[in-house]
Amino acid sequence: STPAAVTSALSASSKRGVLVKGGAALEQIGRIQQIAFDKTGTLTQGVPEVTSVVSFIDDESKVLQLAASIEQTSNHPLAMAILTHAERQSVPLLTVSNDQTLAGLGVQGEVQDDGETQLIKLLAPHHMTAKLAELTQVKTAIEDLENKGNTTVVVLQNEQVIGLVALADSIREDARQAIEALQRLGINTVMLTGDNRRTAKVIADSLGMEYRAELLPEDKSRIVGDLSQDKDTAMVGDGINDAPAMKRASLGIAMGGGTDVALEAADVALMHNRLVELPQMVELGQATLTNIK
Ligand code: ADP
Ligand code: MG
Repeated sequence: STPAAVTSALSASSKRGVLVKGGAALEQIGRIQQIAFDKTGTLTQGVPEVTSVVSFIDDESKVLQLAASIEQTSNHPLAMAILTHAERQSVPLLTVSNDQTLAGLGVQGEVQDDGETQLIKLLAPHHMTAKLAELTQVKTAIEDLENKGNTTVVVLQNEQVIGLVALADSIREDARQAIEALQRLGINTVMLTGDNRRTAKVIADSLGMEYRAELLPEDKSRIVGDLSQDKDTAMVGDGINDAPAMKRASLGIAMGGGTDVALEAADVALMHNRLVELPQMVELGQATLTNIK
């Protein structure tokens, strides 16, 4: 039978909007020594906005049109932001064919423009360093934007770099407080992200936490597996891509506003997306472990 301490802790959690899937999960929270966080949608609100469009072909609206047209086929938060921006600028979209999502890298597809087929790619700059090495002007523009905390997406037309789209996402209001409180409880905190290392550093530094950047989805789950060998490690995430890492962790925690796949993979769900519930849960878990001994 379930000890009374566990039953009452579970009901106290659910009143605070934290869904804990059973007594074993609650006890596991009390043992956690380390927490890995996804960045986008977990530490940040996950609703990025376009901050600028840079054109190297002297036609910003063409860059935006091609980028937005390709993003019609993606459900990534960056895609939503680029589409919203195009709509606000009343930029008409082109029809896309042969579209392909490149998980953790970008997206590509073909558009018909002026009767010609154009291959358009939207890529993370850190996955095309060889190509950018020769393009000093492009590289400098990207680094400037990234040092200001922007995520930049490179737009290619038939393998030629034609522009950049810069986007920024706000950090959740309670993220810093949550990270500080976890650290006071002796919990090690690390951010895992597919974003570039400069943007990652700006965000991690402002939260006072460690970070690993430029990771592919499979890198995240491998790292979480490695971290869990060393210390009891929880993984907090919101996206489809985070589910494998959450399953590899000693404990998976989903943001309530995240995808169903993440919610199903999780042992704990923060239904109100309140990160400050994490240190509270760690304390509750620790107290429960003491009470049932
Ligand atoms: P995160 O770890 O921040 O959630 P992802 O792994 O989803 O990031 O994506 C990593 C990087 O891949 C993004 O920062 C972006 O540069 C690129 N990327 C992924 N999907 C897209 C897309 N649909 N459009 C443009 N860029 C994308
Ligand atoms: Mg995410």
